[in-house]
Amino acid sequence: MKEDPKQLYSLKMRASAHVDGAEHHISGAERILPKEQLPEFAKALVSRGLNHAKGDADFLNVKIEAIPAGDIIHVDALPVETVTVETFQDGLREVERFLRENGIPHIPQIMRKLDETSAMRGAMLLDIHTLQRLEPNLERGVRATCMDCERSSKTVADDAKNHYAEAIVLATKVMNCPGVVGEICISDDPDYVTGYVSSRRTGYRRITKMKPLGSEAGGRIFLFDGNAASPEDAIRYLEHQCVIVHGVQPLPESRPCRLERLEKKLSALKENHLFRTMRTIESAEGPRIVCDGRSMLLMASNSYLDLTAHPLMKQRCAEALAKYGFGSGGSRLTTGNMDAHDALERAIASFKKTEAALVFNTGYAANTAIVSALTDADSVIFSDELNHASIIDGCRLSRARTVIYRHNDMEDLERKIRENPSRNGLVVSDAVFSMDGDILRLPEFLDICQKHELLSMIDEAHSTGVLGDTGHGILEHFHEKRQPDVLMGTLSKAVGAEGGFAAGSQLLIDFLRNMARGFIFSTAMSPVTATAAATGLEIIENEPERINQLHRNIRLFCDALRQGGLDVSSETPIIPVIVGDAARATAVAAQLFEEGLYISAIRYPTVPQGTARLRVSLMATHSEADLQWAANRICNALRQNP
Ligand SMILES: *Cc1c(COP(=O)(O)O)cnc(C)c1O
Repeated sequence: MKEDPKQLYSLKMRASAHVDGAEHHISGAERILPKEQLPEFAKALVSRGLNHAKGDADFLNVKIEAIPAGDIIHVDALPVETVTVETFQDGLREVERFLRENGIPHIPQIMRKLDETSAMRGAMLLDIHTLQRLEPNLERGVRATCMDCERSSKTVADDAKNHYAEAIVLATKVMNCPGVVGEICISDDPDYVTGYVSSRRTGYRRITKMKPLGSEAGGRIFLFDGNAASPEDAIRYLEHQCVIVHGVQPLPESRPCRLERLEKKLSALKENHLFRTMRTIESAEGPRIVCDGRSMLLMASNSYLDLTAHPLMKQRCAEALAKYGFGSGGSRLTTGNMDAHDALERAIASFKKTEAALVFNTGYAANTAIVSALTDADSVIFSDELNHASIIDGCRLSRARTVIYRHNDMEDLERKIRENPSRNGLVVSDAVFSMDGDILRLPEFLDICQKHELLSMIDEAHSTGVLGDTGHGILEHFHEKRQPDVLMGTLSKAVGAEGGFAAGSQLLIDFLRNMARGFIFSTAMSPVTATAAATGLEIIENEPERINQLHRNIRLFCDALRQGGLDVSSETPIIPVIVGDAARATAVAAQLFEEGLYISAIRYPTVPQGTARLRVSLMATHSEADLQWAANRICNALRQNP
């Protein structure tokens, strides 16, 4: 305690509204201030009382009283910690933990008392031994007033509605009350779900969720040890003793209003089983991996030919690393273009039998850059409804009008083209659809594009290294001699490296090099990555038996699943096992994971609502025994999770 040098005043604001004759509390706040600050702060509190989430006030009381000299106690703020919880049920469990930590008895009874506080303006003063309520006015409760924090700033600007600082001040005052051993507080503000528990021992503990959003059911309990003090002394202290709290720090790791929207969206995802997390693999990506410290069979990888750790891949990358180090240091158009990039583009053009090719950092970057470069606001893009997200984003980026046609439905495509005539149109489709594993009807697709004079673009992400007897892609699969205008693909799936590409005429490639912003304004991929990708293509050319193995595995695995009673078929290593419900898909995948089989559950928005699935993807190097075992586990897990 120390002397107060200056006359101070208590400023209190209370706002209420009358509904059917009864007065309802809306908000209240108070400050302890020197005279010169009173007008400014009074104005701010009036504004606060008139603008509250709980509604419009029709009665506002502002009271200013001088505080007798020497009647103020100074105390230090409680230390603060934040406990982040996902649901309010978890928040209430945190309250129980707090009660246990502080040795407070009768925990279930105290938790039930929380429900009784919500209509009260004040707090419940609860004897923790007898569970008696000690407030003289049970309807109103006991109120802690006459307090404020020490203010360093002289202005009202940073004194906006600040729940946090006011709560610390109140909790600190209450924890210095004779006989009070703890407090539980849930705000009655419907927009504010964070609450706290406090005690002298465990400090001020914020709990990020203590009630559902939108609920006005708040309240507070002061936990009172009747053996330690008299209730009369406590009530006198709470209602009349002026207290100034020193050292209230700004909220440490704060979650300001502008971030609450993000938190709400995440909560909604969690409630709908759509929240995404990642597993971590601690080995090379092969048919067997180490994940969470366990050896597992992997049937979820896009590395269809198992080239990522091929001996030649490792050797060439080591050599490239020794030569270049890692980074490329600039965009391709400035200082980032190295012989490794040129060699990769020659290898892609040769692999795809086109005049030229251009490399992007990822397949995603390739699609967004190519589609948006080839079209503009006057164009119409015809896009399959199941096209990859990167194509969809390219359409958005282009500002062109996008017309979606039914999945792989060439009649619908042609109808939509007739209905939307355009002299500047692009038709774009996946070659192999990434979540269903089916193949584009290429000959009809090319017929239509030719007939209507439209640019044609095919995304070969899942067909390069997969389709055709030697893995050259969809043209080889259909023995098609015509070329679409753009063959796009990635180097990150069967090729076993990283990156995206466009392959086509020299004209197309010159155009993209000059117009594709995702190419121009991005640092070139590492020369090591470029070397890895060229090596992957070389291995595919040199070891065509890998493609045979992959095709054999596709047949074996589909047969095994059909024998287990599942209706599946696929010509590609992507084998969707439709489960329907997102929660069921997650449960089945979790059970398989426990059994040592890693398969991804794919949910909305990657696939349409109600078509959640296990997306099996096979590798050339899965053994026959692996395939049979996995098929059995899948059929079994589906039976056990109906
Ligand atoms: C994976 C994929 C892409 C993106 O390629 P990344 O190299 O992974 O960025 C594009 N299109 C399709 C169809 C894909 O499956």
